[in-house]
Amino acid sequence: MFRSVATLGSRSLARPLATHASAAAAAATRHTWRKEEIQKIYDTPLLDLIFRAASIHRKHHDPSKVQLCTLMNIKTGGCSEDCAYCSQSSRYSTPTKASKLVDVEPVLEEARKAKANGSTRFCMGAAWRDLSGRKRGFEKILHMVREVRGMGMEVCTTLGMLTPEQARQLKEAGLTAYNHNLDTSREFYPQVITTRSFDERLQTIEAVREAGISVCSGGILGLGESDSDRVGLIWEVASMPEHPESFPVNALVPIAGTPLENNEPVRYHTLLRTIATARIVMPTTIIRLAAGRNELTDSEQAMCFMAGANAVFTGEKMLTTPCSPWDEDKAMMDRWGLEGMQSFEQKRLADKEPSLPEFADVAQS
Ligand code: SF4
Repeated sequence: MFRSVATLGSRSLARPLATHASAAAAAATRHTWRKEEIQKIYDTPLLDLIFRAASIHRKHHDPSKVQLCTLMNIKTGGCSEDCAYCSQSSRYSTPTKASKLVDVEPVLEEARKAKANGSTRFCMGAAWRDLSGRKRGFEKILHMVREVRGMGMEVCTTLGMLTPEQARQLKEAGLTAYNHNLDTSREFYPQVITTRSFDERLQTIEAVREAGISVCSGGILGLGESDSDRVGLIWEVASMPEHPESFPVNALVPIAGTPLENNEPVRYHTLLRTIATARIVMPTTIIRLAAGRNELTDSEQAMCFMAGANAVFTGEKMLTTPCSPWDEDKAMMDRWGLEGMQSFEQKRLADKEPSLPEFADVAQS
């Protein structure tokens, strides 16, 4: 039901049927969820929950497709913020050493390598609070964004807090998506970060959305939060004027020297419940299995895909934590009959790229 394949220029695009998919998505996308409703979904017996999530997933996504994204740290460590899970905060004594913003060419080299290995989204992360006082650095990043976008890849950045003007400049440079995680519920947030508020995070997300950039915003499990905090996180993003285009689900990788170094690993069934609940509540969102995935077996990952996850980070490294390498991911995906998404295969992304002539044609179909 969900794919029509349009060959446009040199690219073959598997795309949803615009009118049908739009109507179904609009009917299914609710922004008025009550926390109790989400909690009830979250508390469903696990296999029923996964069955329901898998059914919804199949109505809105091609279940054989997984988006492959590669993440590069373009400025490591030395961050002034106090995120209790992060090895890049200058407040904690961790093995991560601070470095300067990377030059443009090595970044483009990594993006080319990622593309050659099948990744269709390239994300660049910088460890800092915001861009104030970083005019030249920001210009360099805008250059990177233009170049990576010019390779035909979806391009994402995570650069801390943004002003509306900075978001506008990123959009103009061709940015596809901006990652700014809420991390956890509003209630639990102050136990994790004190140097910027939950509302400041929401303001950056609003600036990104208003600039016409897709929002990538999710959370981290294993911070010490409760089930109701996980429900609260999903409620918060599902209550936004647009559901995030992408919802990353990270499992904490405890880092020596951080305040959370001794946290217990999140239980696998909690990860599954969170993925499945997010899939049901935000049916058109890409659910991104992020940090901690390399700790999961193939079969555990397969169950995550069944529960609605449809994106992974792949490559040599995430920001500071290990990543599953491309060859292992390719082998796993072959075993499970999965394949990588094309760039801009998602209708929601293509709709935000009106300047691309190929998408302008398809959007009218
Ligand atoms: S998560 Fe980001 S903002 Fe927080 S300490 Fe780490 S690099 Fe800084």
